[in-house]
Amino acid sequence: MAIKRIPVSEPCLGKNELKYVTDCVRSGWISSLGSYITEFEKKFSGFCGMPYGVTTSNGTTALHLALEILGIKTGDEVIVPSLTFIAVANAVKYSGAKPVFADSEYSTWNIDPKNIEKLITKNTKAIIAVHSYGHPADIGSIKKIADKHKLFLIEDCAESHGALYRGKMTGSFGDISCFSFYGNKIITTGEGGILLTRSSKLYEKAKFLRDHGMSKKRRYFHPEIGFNYRITNLQCAVGLGQFERINYLIDKRREHAYYYNELLATVEELTLPPEEIWAKNVFWMYSILTLKRDALAQHLSKNGIDSRPFFIPIHKQPPYMDKKLSLPVSEDLARQGMNLPSSARLSKTDIRRICETIRYFFKNNQR
Ligand SMILES: *Cc1c(COP(=O)(O)O)cnc(C)c1O
Repeated sequence: MAIKRIPVSEPCLGKNELKYVTDCVRSGWISSLGSYITEFEKKFSGFCGMPYGVTTSNGTTALHLALEILGIKTGDEVIVPSLTFIAVANAVKYSGAKPVFADSEYSTWNIDPKNIEKLITKNTKAIIAVHSYGHPADIGSIKKIADKHKLFLIEDCAESHGALYRGKMTGSFGDISCFSFYGNKIITTGEGGILLTRSSKLYEKAKFLRDHGMSKKRRYFHPEIGFNYRITNLQCAVGLGQFERINYLIDKRREHAYYYNELLATVEELTLPPEEIWAKNVFWMYSILTLKRDALAQHLSKNGIDSRPFFIPIHKQPPYMDKKLSLPVSEDLARQGMNLPSSARLSKTDIRRICETIRYFFKNNQR
C-alpha cells in the first residue's frame, strides 16, 4: 500500500465555508458587492485591533494599494527585507519607487532594525516590515526608527495572522498593515487580501482606488487612475467561515510546532524556529535551519514528505540582482532554511513520521 504524501500546506476548510458559498450562489451575490465582504472586513480588522479594513484581490494588491494611498511614487525609496517573498519588492516597483534591501537578524529571521537606519536617505519614504513565517519582527524598534525619521510604516502580515508582539497584534503597529489570504496562508479566501488602517482618510482613498478611482458623488467620473483590486463576495464567504475558526487554526499550528520541537530537540545539526520571549509565533510555516538542507529535502521527498526551501533573497533574484550588495544573515538563512509540512490538518502521526525520517537522515549522515 502506498503511503500518503504529506504536502507542505493545504487549506483546512469547514462546513460554514461551504454553507456561506452556497448562500452566495443561491442568492446570486457572487461578484464584488455583498454582505460577506463587509462582514469579513469588519470582523478581520476588529480581530487585529484596527478600525478600518479594505479587502483586495490578493496580498500583493493590498501592498501596492497601501503604497499608492500613502503617495509613494517614482524617485522615492522604500526599505524592505531582502529575505522575503518577492511580492514585497514588486509592489514597491509597481508604485514607481525603489526597494532598498535590508539584512535580517538571526533572533527573529526578520528585518534587522539595526540595519535600517544606515539605509535611510533623503528619498526614503517608508519601511515595509514583514513578519516572516509567523514570527513577529521587532516592530517596536522599527516603529521608533520610522517615527524618528518621519517615515511611513507598513506591516506585511501575510504570514502572521494572529501573531503577537509584546501581547499586541501584528498588524496594529503600522500606518497600514497588509494581509494575504492565499490558499496556503493561516486563513484563506483562495486568493485575497486586506489592508488595515486607523485613518478614515486612508480608508476612503483605498476604497476609491480599489474601484477604478470612481467618484463617490458622480458615477463613472474618474478623477484619478485607479485599479480593479476588488475581492468577491464568494471569496469572503469562504473567508468568513475561515475567520470563525481562526483561533483553532492558529492553536493547531502552535501545537504542531511544539510537537515538532519536542521530537527534534536532540538533533544537533538542526536549528529550531525562534520564539522570542516577547513574541507569540503563529508558525505559519514550521521552519528549521540545517547546513544539509538540500540533501535532507531530497531524503524527505523520497519518503513522501514535501518541504520547501526558504525564499531566495530578493537582491539575488534576476530583476533585482545586486552583486555588490552583501546581506550575510539573509544569505545564510536562505542557504540553510527549510519549511516542513505545516497545515492545520496534519496529524500527530504525520509529524512523528516526518521527525523519524529527519532523525534517520542525520543518524546515517554522521561520520
Ligand atoms: C503570500 C505573501 C504575499 C503575497 O500575497 P498574495 O496574496 O499571494 O499576493 C506578500 N507578502 C508575503 C510576505 C507573503 O508571504
